[in-house]
Amino acid sequence: MRKNSWIAWLVVLAGIFTVVQINPQIVPQVKSELKSANDQIQPYVYLIKANIDEKISGQRQTTTEKQVGKAVTPVEEPLQGMTTSNIYYYHFKSNVPESAQQVFKYAIDQYNQTGIVKLLPGQADSDQNSVTFFIYHKKIENVMSSSVELGNGGPSALQLNDYAINTSQAGLNMTYPTLSVKKSVAMHELGHALGLAHSSYTNSVMYPVDQGVSQLSEADLNGLKNIYNK
Ligand SMILES: [Zn+2]
Repeated sequence: MRKNSWIAWLVVLAGIFTVVQINPQIVPQVKSELKSANDQIQPYVYLIKANIDEKISGQRQTTTEKQVGKAVTPVEEPLQGMTTSNIYYYHFKSNVPESAQQVFKYAIDQYNQTGIVKLLPGQADSDQNSVTFFIYHKKIENVMSSSVELGNGGPSALQLNDYAINTSQAGLNMTYPTLSVKKSVAMHELGHALGLAHSSYTNSVMYPVDQGVSQLSEADLNGLKNIYNK
């Protein structure tokens, strides 16, 4: 019942946006989203309005690998210029449901397949890198909000000269499980935990608005190499 009322509410929101702004531009909106996201904590969002715009216009912004060229997904500030181990020990907080664990396990597997990082189950010692997977609940703050926060994650680096110990976290917002419990969201949040920052390319798992991308792009791989292959 709760899910149905949420869908109904989304439909109502869709109506509001269609009335308020006829045929708005997607790109400037996403750019402002990118700018503000870079300033502080970087929640991964699902853009309600952009999704509706796409349905209206039938258009979609895409980026091909060719356009990206030698692009490199940027590195999160705490790990910039730092050397850190590529071995991580991970665990799930006890309240993380099976569905969320499954999408995170997919993401762990994808990152391990790169050969650039190695994520192992278990508790880290104080001098080892770790990832803690968690869940949280956060509702849209006001009814006119154009986006839903899907997850949050990032590194927390203890810096010893130019060496960093990364005690990181990756979490999913379980207030909107149908939007957040997805491979693409898990890839994005684990990407933050491992030190990747937001990308302006839509084919990157680090694009700040969910595009359903669950495979690392060439630029994402280059970003990981920048952090770990020193
Ligand atoms: Zn993000």
